[in-house]
Amino acid sequence: MKLLTTLALFLYTFLLAGCALLQPSTHDLVITNANVVDVVSGKVFPGKTLLVDAGVITDITDTKPGKTYKSDTTIDAQGKYIIPGLWDNHIHLRGGMALEEENKRLLPLYIANGITTVRDAGGDLYPAIRQWRDEIAAEKLVGPRIISAGPKLDGPNPIWEGSIPVATVADVPAALDSLQRLGVDFVKIYDSTISGEVFLAIVEQAEARGMKTSGHMPFTITLGEAIDRGLDITEHLYYAFKAGSAQEDSLTALVRKSTYTDQPIGFYTALGWVYSSYDTTTARQFFQRMAKANTAVVPTLHISRVLNNLQQDDHSTDDYLAYIGPGIQQTYARRFDSAKRQSAETVQFMRDLNARFHTMVPAMQQAGVTLLAGSDAGAYNSYVYPGESLHKELELLVEAGLTPAQALRTATINGANVMGKAQQYGSVQQGKVADLVILDNNPLENISHTQGIHTVIFGGKVYTAEELEHLLESQKE
Ligand SMILES: [Zn+2]
Repeated sequence: MKLLTTLALFLYTFLLAGCALLQPSTHDLVITNANVVDVVSGKVFPGKTLLVDAGVITDITDTKPGKTYKSDTTIDAQGKYIIPGLWDNHIHLRGGMALEEENKRLLPLYIANGITTVRDAGGDLYPAIRQWRDEIAAEKLVGPRIISAGPKLDGPNPIWEGSIPVATVADVPAALDSLQRLGVDFVKIYDSTISGEVFLAIVEQAEARGMKTSGHMPFTITLGEAIDRGLDITEHLYYAFKAGSAQEDSLTALVRKSTYTDQPIGFYTALGWVYSSYDTTTARQFFQRMAKANTAVVPTLHISRVLNNLQQDDHSTDDYLAYIGPGIQQTYARRFDSAKRQSAETVQFMRDLNARFHTMVPAMQQAGVTLLAGSDAGAYNSYVYPGESLHKELELLVEAGLTPAQALRTATINGANVMGKAQQYGSVQQGKVADLVILDNNPLENISHTQGIHTVIFGGKVYTAEELEHLLESQKE
């Protein structure tokens, strides 16, 4: 009897296997003939078939002529290039309740531009963001995956709405408790009024709790002190720039000494000193230290250029303004007004400073620092448009000296690595989530080719070029 059962089972298995051989396998999505861009090696693998099931890349094999699959959606990607969905590693969803709807309407712009993940670097819309995230996951809303800091931590009477004020080191545990209760993805520290002591205490205690940290920091402390305590990301280039000054220690001491006097040394005064004492050897040594400590940096070159040219550039006819709500457009006035007040000397200094910042990018890359592409798009950041601005950032990173492959990494695998999500995201690989962009041309030949988008795939859901165009059209204000 037992033998018979075994025999029956054997035959049954044999028949099943036979059927499987004859019948094409069934998948949610099949992409054939694709040139797969491996962002890690910087190589293109041609002639690949990708199988996607339940939103995950289940297999990548050579496309074989005559081999068929059963699928609702098949894309012949002949002549096209597949990259992972892009990451904008620094955006803001903010502007208060009154601008909640307008912020929500920005989310499809990211998808339309091939950006499947954004890192929200702090704001005042966190409960709404959590809801949007759920709606996006349930396919009720088109938008990217949102990694959010929730409210920023800052000092007393912070300039940004919704920030949590942390006045003393004794207040740090409660602030971190409240972020953990909210379930934020990382801690964003801002420096409108925060003390250096509190900044370092936040980094140290967040590290002990296993929370990631990123921030702007006061010039009363050094980036070296912050990375020693476990800072994960330094936003913008100011702080690494200061660390490249041959006189960083004495300069920091001077700023600290002046803090509680009637004439505290201002940020821009100190920047001027850093500029004239910046030393490439000191900088290189510091970048190596950053690389060793795994502290990543978000250069945000594009926004610096846009803000620097606000006086001269007329943005009133920008096509992209059509997607920006009137309330958010009003917030653009703040930076615009302060730009108008800038003296010719200040404008020139900022221009020189930006040129210096550009030289830091290849130097950091060479030292092994993890660079992250981030646009800083959001309310208040005038004319830095959600979606489009990340592609501009990539162009500037290449202009500054990165290879297209290095630049592409800053907007894909690097962010996933830094945020601890590389198991699922950041490259085109079997087992990863099917967040993909199909491009018309090879981005490794020209980084601007990230703008020639043929198809966007978000968790296996396909948006054709036509659908993306409709999506954009429907987002016009
Ligand atoms: Zn920002």
